[in-house]
Amino acid sequence: MDRPRFVIDSAEAEQMAKQSGQTVLQLLPALVKSAQALARPPISKYHVGAVGFGSSGRIFFGVNLEFPGVPLNNSVHAEQFLITNLSINAEPLLKFLAVSAAPCGHCRQFLQELRAAADVNILITASKNENESKTNDNCNDKDLQFTPLSHFLPHRFGPDDLLEKDVPLLLEPHRNGLSLCSDACNGKLNGYTDDDELKYAALEAANTSHAPYSGCPSGVALVDVEGKIYKGSYMESAAYNPSLPPAQAALVAYVASGGGGGYERIVAAVLVEKADAVTKQEPTAKLLLQCISPKCEFKVFHCKKNSLNCEYQE
Ligand SMILES: [Zn+2]
Repeated sequence: MDRPRFVIDSAEAEQMAKQSGQTVLQLLPALVKSAQALARPPISKYHVGAVGFGSSGRIFFGVNLEFPGVPLNNSVHAEQFLITNLSINAEPLLKFLAVSAAPCGHCRQFLQELRAAADVNILITASKNENESKTNDNCNDKDLQFTPLSHFLPHRFGPDDLLEKDVPLLLEPHRNGLSLCSDACNGKLNGYTDDDELKYAALEAANTSHAPYSGCPSGVALVDVEGKIYKGSYMESAAYNPSLPPAQAALVAYVASGGGGGYERIVAAVLVEKADAVTKQEPTAKLLLQCISPKCEFKVFHCKKNSLNCEYQE
């Protein structure tokens, strides 16, 4: 059985386009329905699919995730999932995005964290009549109604308002220079890992976290019943509320590369964050992970910048 896929490499995208007599850009709206089918919205039952095209020529999927039992603001929107998916796969730039419904205000704001955000071209497929799209002469890219993000969110508030120009933005390389505090170096997880792999995976995620506003990067690593590890980095928004917590980012990695299994397959999780963080992930990450996977063992290890007390080195 084919497992759900959330990334299509550039050669395959070209091949798929050729086979269907379309351009790669025309493929994006055509793939939105397949993305929607992968969404996990048990509360709203409203499936959102986002399909993005990056500067490498790869195609990425994003879907919405909802988690019964915790407040709604723990949800992941399809566009946030998509950006997280790009980040996991080291894609430097999102150029085009086709999405099943108009991006909400929260996502229009979240997308501002990207370099050249105003130029991300967006096409909303919900406004297209399905029959019409099959019968009209929609055969060249000029007919595709991609519209720049600046149209959807004029008068933007974003990183430019708060950061210096040379601060790396979302999807750009981050090296936060964090190491585990000495009290974390001997921490052990019972049962699921026989070494520090999970802890160092979470540290690695914290080291690539985008947290320029709070200065409190963090990362989560999950392990499933098969021993596969999934990493998620905290990603902040200039407007704070649309920020994506590290547990959610790790769950995106799990959904995008975990073969479609349920969350109960996640058996252990580690969060790495600063001991003196002004914004802490621990209470909400623990709440979410233990709600969706009650048997998941959850541990927190603290880190600090440029610590001399830890053996970890990049
Ligand atoms: Zn949204």
